Order: sequence, then C-alpha cells, then structure tokens
Amino acid sequence: MNGESRLSKANRAYAVVDVGGTKIQAALVDRSGVVAARNKQPTPRGVEPEPILAAIEDALTDVLRQSREPVVAIGIGVPGVVDPPRGLIVGTPNMGLSDCPIGARLEKRFDLPVALGNDCNLGALGEKWLGSARGANSVMSILVGTGIGGGFVQKSRLWRGAREVASEIGHIVMQIGGPTCGCGNRGCLEALASRSAIERQLREAVAAGRSTILTDLLAGDLNVIRSSVLRQALELKDAVVAEVIDRAAEVLGHACLTVRHLLDPEVIVLGGGVIEACSAHFMPIIQRIVESDRLPAARDGGHVLISSLGDDAVVLGAAALARIHVGDDPFKSGDAALPAYPKITLAGSGELKVGEKTYPKGLYVTVSAKAKSLKEHPIAESDGRLRIETEHLVKPCRGGPELLFLGAARGQQWQLSDAAAEYLRQRAIGWQVLPTDEAVKAFNQSTLRRAAIFYAC
Ligand SMILES: [Zn+2]
Repeated sequence: MNGESRLSKANRAYAVVDVGGTKIQAALVDRSGVVAARNKQPTPRGVEPEPILAAIEDALTDVLRQSREPVVAIGIGVPGVVDPPRGLIVGTPNMGLSDCPIGARLEKRFDLPVALGNDCNLGALGEKWLGSARGANSVMSILVGTGIGGGFVQKSRLWRGAREVASEIGHIVMQIGGPTCGCGNRGCLEALASRSAIERQLREAVAAGRSTILTDLLAGDLNVIRSSVLRQALELKDAVVAEVIDRAAEVLGHACLTVRHLLDPEVIVLGGGVIEACSAHFMPIIQRIVESDRLPAARDGGHVLISSLGDDAVVLGAAALARIHVGDDPFKSGDAALPAYPKITLAGSGELKVGEKTYPKGLYVTVSAKAKSLKEHPIAESDGRLRIETEHLVKPCRGGPELLFLGAARGQQWQLSDAAAEYLRQRAIGWQVLPTDEAVKAFNQSTLRRAAIFYAC
C-alpha cells in the first residue's frame, strides 16, 4: 500500500473524547459517523488537572490502539470555556482543567492535530451533522443535564461568539431574584430547570412535608434521582413530581420562546436524560408555550425536536469538528459518506438473510449498519396487525436515521401507536411502510442514512 492510498479520504478515522463531569468517553469514529471503538472511564475527582489529563490520554490510547484505519485527527469536547485557536481550556467550573493547554499536550503526545470545543457546542454540531437537525439550516440545541448548556449552528458553522461564550443558554435569567445558580447569578434557567434544580425542588417539597412516591421508590434516599425513576413516578401519577416537572417544562418552554425571538433557528433540539426519559410530560407543555407565540413570523417552522443522538451527540460533534479542522468538511455537499449497509435478501421460506446469517423472525438494522434479530425484541401480532410501540423503535432508531423502513409480510399491517409516531416525528425520522419484499429492495437501493425493521413469517 503506498502512502497516497493509505491517506485517501475514504478510510480515514477520527479519535474523539467527550470529557464529562462524571465520565470520560473516548471513541473512534469513521467518516460516516459510525463508532468503531469506545472507551469509557470515570472522571478522576479533585482539583488537580494531571489525573484527568492522564485519564483522557489513557482513553485515547485505548481507542487508537483498536483502529484499523489511519486516524488523522483528534477532537475533544470539554464542559467549560475554551479557546479553540489556542487549544486552551480557559475555565471549567466543575473540574480542575482551568488554564490547561490541552491542545498542545495531546498534539505532542499523539503526533496528531487536535481540535478543541465546548461540549454543548459540539452537541449542536453533532445534531446538525447526523441528528435531529440534519435537514435544518440553523439549529439551537439545548442540553438539560446537571447544568444546562447549548450550541448554535448556522449554515453548518458553530457560532461561538466574540469571547467564546455564545449559547450559554443555561444562564439566561428566567426569574429575576430567583434561586442562586452555580455561576453566581440568580434565577438562571439552569437554577430552575436543570436536573439538579429538579432534584433540589423535589427534596425541598419532601422537607416541607409533602408526600411523594419517590420516598418509596428510592427507599428514602433522595440524593440522586435517576431519570427513569422520575418517569416511573410520573407514570404512577405522583402529584409532587408532576408539579416540579411541569414547572421545569414551563420554564424551558419560555426559554425556547426566547431562543426563537433572539435567533429564530429553523429547529430547536432538546436533549439530556431527563427530557428524553420524560418527554411525554415535557414536550406537550413546551410545544404549547412555543405555539402560543403571538409574535407573527413570515414562514412556518421553528419546531422543537428531541435529540436523536442522545449520549453520542458530543462524540459525533467532536468528530465533525476534527474533520473540519483537517479540511475534510463533513458538510461539503456531495460528500456524504454512508455506513456500509449489509445486503439483505429474502429466502424462499419467508426468512431473511444478511450475508450467511438467517433471521427467522425478522431483524432490525440500525443507521450504523448493525443487524440484530427481532427475537430479543418481540413485536405483538394480533389479527394480522403488528403493533409498534415506542420501545420497539428505541434501538433501531439509535443514531438518528433519516428514514426507517418497516417491512411486514403481505397480509400483515403495521400499526404505529400515537406515541411511536410522535417519537419518530420528534426526531425528524421519516418512515415508510411496505410489504417485506419491497421494503428489503427499497432498503438495499436507498442512498439515505437508513434503518429498518423487517418482520417476516
Ligand atoms: Zn447561571
């Protein structure tokens, strides 16, 4: 293999790291956005930068070791203020990486160019590249976690501001004189609607003598309240949890209205564990507030969507940034690299085959071109109808396909529940229902980023 073909664009890979307050996630990402290797480790506690930098280097070393393609650049996302041209972390409020020249250090260590960005900014870039905002010209993404961060991308470029602090949506003041925020100001969005604010308000309600099912669900320890437990409490119609989440949703809805009035993006993408787990509760309230806007606009649009990349938004945004950094712009038209989808064939007996492997009950294929049996994922059938619920879509739709093919044997009909259809709409995923033989053909011929559920019998 000569040097030139080794460096041809098609097989390039990128090593990326999402440095979080609790975990460091490294990944190896190819040009089509497929994650080929991962390394996850806890973020070392403490104020010293060295243990954190060592963990970042360990994670990168591990994914680089697994690469079968030449890695041409490193992308890194950090929760704080960064100075990308200087590769400098200016300040990280929740970890000890302030004043750290991470770009120069990693460049020297790995002998690769390094692109640095703010994690939430990169989340927006990820959603624009492969997620719910892939078809939009402009997107504001809002990530609701321990804090609330954001990113604004217009015409495939991040807007970072004059001082590298644009899109700090968590610190817009939503209640003058309100509760003190981690940043020191009062009444910030983050102090009212982040997952820590939600947890704080629930603990305050309990301390004030209100009774909630959370006390039973968490055996009295309300220090950490997971998103899945919040959803469970909402499904059990817990009044205190519903009240606190409703209030957070209202504040977020008004923040979306503010985003609309300030930037008027084509879409707003909301992400974060609590929003994704409790979307049935959050979204109707947020939609109602955004739709109640009395200020007229020249055109329709301004939709509020949910992240289709979830935890991978920052990782994929870091890969997009690394690609831009070395002149391999993922947004250049006509240069959309697709994952290597397997060819699927229909065997005479009604079975489906991928390569040599047979899937008797059908299969699903993800946007990352992974095929899995439907056996672990049974779909209920009654009177020739296959009922699709949200839970059937979560795995096949991971990674944000543009189009989902649903194929069923002739005589059978797919029936999407309202919640399932809403799940797809909220992630800008189109869907096409066809008899399995036609769906297989359409899937094999498609030139889109696609996923499928093929049911055969
Ligand atoms: Zn603040």
